[in-house]
Amino acid sequence: MKKIMIDMDDVICEGGFLYQLNRFLGTNYKETDMVSYYMQDMIPEERQEEWNRYLAEQNLYAEGNRILPGAKEVIRKLAECYEVYIVTAYIIKDNPSQCGKHLFNKFEWLCKEFPFLHPSCFSFVNHKDLIDCDIKIDDRLSNLSGKAETKLLFDAYHNRNITKEELENCGVRRVCSWYEIEEILLKEMSYSL
Ligand SMILES: [Mg+2]
Repeated sequence: MKKIMIDMDDVICEGGFLYQLNRFLGTNYKETDMVSYYMQDMIPEERQEEWNRYLAEQNLYAEGNRILPGAKEVIRKLAECYEVYIVTAYIIKDNPSQCGKHLFNKFEWLCKEFPFLHPSCFSFVNHKDLIDCDIKIDDRLSNLSGKAETKLLFDAYHNRNITKEELENCGVRRVCSWYEIEEILLKEMSYSL
């Protein structure tokens, strides 16, 4: 069976981080208001430490978190003909030593929402380029580096500035939904399984 690694945040689920950011700031920001990949860049510098302490206590997979349409159904189908691994980073850049709870929350949420995947298929790593898989799906282009015959960039607020030509040069194809992934991996590529 071919191996697929699938990212979690902004690929399988979204919303929890933005929810906490808005709760902390008392704002109503949308994803499209973000100035960079790191939503926390919206925090004023003088409140950064307070934010780090606040965030370390929150569960990003509880309030405000939602599963992207089709993610669960399509991953269930993929697991029938591919080896599926959920590969997700858990270190939050400004507070790296306080991310143990965050890792635990991720693991618990994956176990609850994806009971058809064995927990040993959940991998928590920030340097995703260490991993070789046949197929990689991620919303961050740098996470698609390394060996893989198929690289799919999941469309997200922070990657829309990457042009089709740039993606083609890296051998990457943009996908905008789980139904598109289903089409590619279960229909187009089914001949090569
Ligand atoms: Mg992601």
